[in-house]
Amino acid sequence: MGKVKGFKEFNRIDEKYLPVRSRLKNYNEFTIEVKKSELESQSARCMDCGVPFCHSGCPLGNLIPDFNDLVYNKKWKDALEVLHSTNNFPEFTGRLCPAPCEASCVLGIIDPPVSIELIEKNIIEEGFKNGWIKPVIPKSRTNKKIAIIGSGPAGLAASQQLNSVGHNVTVFERDNKIGGLLRYGIPDFKLEKNIIDRRVNILKEEGIKFKCCINVGKDITIEKLQEDFDAVLISTGSTKKRSLDIPGSDLHGIEQAMDFLTHNNKFVDGQIKAHMDRYNAKDKNIIVIGGGDTGSDCIGTSNRHGAESVINFELSNKPGKKRDSSNPWPYWPFTLKTTSSHQEGVSREWSILTKKFIGDKHNNLVGLQTVNVEIDKTSGKLSEIPNTEKVWDCDMAILALGFTGPEEDLPNQLNIDLNSIGNISSNSDYQTKKNNIFTAGDCRRGQSLIVWAISEGREASYHIDKYLMGKSNLPRKNSYGDL
Ligand SMILES: Cc1cc2nc3c(=O)[nH]c(=O)nc-3n(C[C@H](O)[C@H](O)[C@H](O)COP(=O)(O)OP(=O)(O)OC[C@H]3O[C@@H](n4cnc5c(N)ncnc54)[C@H](O)[C@@H]3O)c2cc1C
Repeated sequence: MGKVKGFKEFNRIDEKYLPVRSRLKNYNEFTIEVKKSELESQSARCMDCGVPFCHSGCPLGNLIPDFNDLVYNKKWKDALEVLHSTNNFPEFTGRLCPAPCEASCVLGIIDPPVSIELIEKNIIEEGFKNGWIKPVIPKSRTNKKIAIIGSGPAGLAASQQLNSVGHNVTVFERDNKIGGLLRYGIPDFKLEKNIIDRRVNILKEEGIKFKCCINVGKDITIEKLQEDFDAVLISTGSTKKRSLDIPGSDLHGIEQAMDFLTHNNKFVDGQIKAHMDRYNAKDKNIIVIGGGDTGSDCIGTSNRHGAESVINFELSNKPGKKRDSSNPWPYWPFTLKTTSSHQEGVSREWSILTKKFIGDKHNNLVGLQTVNVEIDKTSGKLSEIPNTEKVWDCDMAILALGFTGPEEDLPNQLNIDLNSIGNISSNSDYQTKKNNIFTAGDCRRGQSLIVWAISEGREASYHIDKYLMGKSNLPRKNSYGDL
């Protein structure tokens, strides 16, 4: 440890944001840079805790105490090397990860945890600023060809790992640009898209081929891929949107969150010149149904459009500010989360169930009928509270209810099974029942997080390499086990 009692000396600092009024004027990121000297002191808060639980809190097994120590000692370039040894894309996780590492930080037992995510983001940005991040081109090539279907973080991480050991990798993407949900789900105010382009350019220089606008299974058959490639990785994400089948669900004015967000991301990118009315929240009373990350992104986007009002419904009970006894450290804390989008203006309603959409004579949405509910903590059983029915005025309802699993076309064409919860089935080697077809990311694990997608892409690469070459030297996740 750089400074053994640094945690006693320095208080945690968090990234600060531009004022709400100015950040709502555009879609840019709005964090304010933290001074290097302050980050170095923040790293000194990492204790000599003996068993760094953050290793197992992080799905990538990031070597957090090691890079903290290097940052404290001003060895930023070495810190970058340590960070990159377990994480292909710290610029994504450093901005977007909910940071399970911080939830399991030992300092968190008595004090606010080390600001690991902030340090991670700054290590990678320092790397880009100083030109330390260069394409690593393999010295020799194997004669093996690998097709990766889907260019989200799982597919991208796998492509870099497999290319690094000399395989010839081609990524097929059905969208017109690379990035998966990073590109067309997550808004620019959380992740500006030049950050994806910057990384994809490096991957291209390393020798990875990208083919956009190719929907595998439609534009090219999976049989053709199997003929042309030695192994195939399916990393197509979890894309089947959950619907809300209640009376009135076919009215005009009810939109899926992903349609709304994709439209907006294409607008910000200049691919769409003006908002289509159905996806335009300006001057409308918006109700976002669903209180997760996606719902939060819809709130931030609606406020940037200039919505008249924004309300967010969440079915579950309002969580407390502190962990309760059934949810101890170092597990993920189920506590109240307030995102930057929440701070920008929204009324959050908890324990509320939407019963019915109400329309006018032209079939336009004008309101929602709800009832308050109680959820039993132990059984999870939901019961409606009598006499709590309420009608809310609403011009546009956005359904942010998550995804039910991967689309079935590809697994069906390949005669690959889905498991009991609808994800693509594989063994512990990420291999489907077809020997040369592997799977990783949200399509295998169900909707999850970027950090998990990267982790899955890396693990699958190890197994693909081993399958092709008989053994693999690709790094694997540490064996501390997950929390
Ligand atoms: C709105 C939103 C906000 C989120 N915010 C966060 C966040 O802040 N932090 C966080 O950690 N996680 C967040 N997530 C979750 C995170 O984005 C996902 O867990 C992650 O992107 C999954 O990565 P993936 O590579 O498995 O799949 P995806 O990112 O979904 O990528 C799959 C890709 O496969 C392509 N594809 C599908 N089928 C085919 C085919 N047949 N042929 C060719 N290409 C195909 C798709 O077009 C897509 O580009 C968010 C998710 C959403 C929806």
